[in-house]
Amino acid sequence: MAEEKTVLIVEDEKNIVDILRFNLERKGYRTLEAYDGEDGLRKAREEKPDLILLDIMLPKMIGFDVCAALRKEGDSVPIILLTAREEEDDKVRGLEMGADDYITKPFSMREVVARVEANIRRTAMAAPAAGAADSAMPVAGDLAINTDSHQVFRGGRAIDLTQREYELLTFLASHPNKVYSRVDLMEQVWNYGYVGDDVRTVDVTVRRLREKIEENPASPQFILTRRGAGYYFSVS
Ligand code: CA
Repeated sequence: MAEEKTVLIVEDEKNIVDILRFNLERKGYRTLEAYDGEDGLRKAREEKPDLILLDIMLPKMIGFDVCAALRKEGDSVPIILLTAREEEDDKVRGLEMGADDYITKPFSMREVVARVEANIRRTAMAAPAAGAADSAMPVAGDLAINTDSHQVFRGGRAIDLTQREYELLTFLASHPNKVYSRVDLMEQVWNYGYVGDDVRTVDVTVRRLREKIEENPASPQFILTRRGAGYYFSVS
């Protein structure tokens, strides 16, 4: 049997927590619950869950701040925000704070389970192993990827990426110079069968990725934009 994955649910509405827990446990996940932001942050730090479902409007500490605090500490756990509104600003702000994904309430349990499965890390992120930089494969310039440890290096220095940022980078890098539209990337990297307005997710993730891997994010050398077409990984 596959190793049991733990999902931390941070949500102050008990009925929502109950239905999430019931459905996730039925799918074989272990669940932890927190009913306010501070407790959520504490459990995320102490229990190291495999994924966090994080409500935005929470007592004591809002979801955006919980997310930003974890990312600041270098925690790359997949985070799915639960947003109460269809507000584009919330989505973009959440992604900028380092969330991987969002689900708008009211949601179907089928959608939640699908998103959890799409976002949960399939390979445990290895602790920065000795030698991981040396055995990383150079992809372009001084950028190298170790696909065993899921780590990215620039000039031998490890770069902290979220799981989604890592997947986007490795997907583009494994198809050098091929342009992918945002819809393509949504399907290939996010594994979503539908897209709608969610293509902005791609733009925000590209921007965050550039800020981490590019010398000058405003004038990128690795992930380039082909105007009106999409993004590509540049190898000259
Ligand atoms: Ca709430």
